Amino acid sequence: MIDSHCHLTSISKEKSEIIKIIDRAKENNINYIVDIGVHPSDLEKRFDILGSMENVYMTAGFYPDYAYSYEEQELSAFKDKIISINNDKKNIYMIGEIGLDYYHNNEDTYKQQHLFEMLISIANELSLPISVHTREAWNDTISILSKNKVDKRGIIHCFSGGLEEAKKVLDLGYIISFSGVITYPKNTMLRDVAKYVPDDMFCLETDAPYLTPQKVRGKKNEPSFIKYIADTVANEKSVNVEKILEMSYHNALRVLDGSIV
Ligand SMILES: [Zn+2]
Repeated sequence: MIDSHCHLTSISKEKSEIIKIIDRAKENNINYIVDIGVHPSDLEKRFDILGSMENVYMTAGFYPDYAYSYEEQELSAFKDKIISINNDKKNIYMIGEIGLDYYHNNEDTYKQQHLFEMLISIANELSLPISVHTREAWNDTISILSKNKVDKRGIIHCFSGGLEEAKKVLDLGYIISFSGVITYPKNTMLRDVAKYVPDDMFCLETDAPYLTPQKVRGKKNEPSFIKYIADTVANEKSVNVEKILEMSYHNALRVLDGSIV
């Protein structure tokens, strides 16, 4: 089964520690991990530590916070870097996380929108899906995704909207990814989305080291904690946990394989 979004090198900088984290994930039946990038400069370090690890899928990201400080030429360098990594058979499976974050910064939001659109066009040029980060920016996110079709679609990571937003992104063909946030008592709205979302349109993620599920709050989050998120979704869907984990795995793989239509 899979953790469709986490940041292994943010959980620990030590390779030996990361190996232990992956082992604990395996003991909990999580055999695949998608390691998410946040900036072009993190690729080298991540490949250094994780490149040789089996069943770790790598992405290349450009977090919206950087929209205020990047130079235009960094974008072509980013694209070239991904092309060269993929030519080397080291495989980047997705562009992300990318998106809009008006919680961190809601000034000159056109800068974030521009970067997001540029990155979407890179994803299309490279024929890759995207991992979307969106926080307090639903209207602009949905309008950008509507105007800028991504051939390979993607995943709305750490989905935090309600039914209305869920319907809109599902209509656009995006998979909704539930994180530990769905386990927090006050988030009834998210649990309603879990009840609603079709079985083939959701996946599960920890976003570790962030967003530790309720039952283990206080601990540093890690991929083995997917089970707590699966539990909550299983409850809402009245399906057993194993089945939920399986659905998440198939849905995430469908995106990573680029076979989503
Ligand atoms: Zn993340």
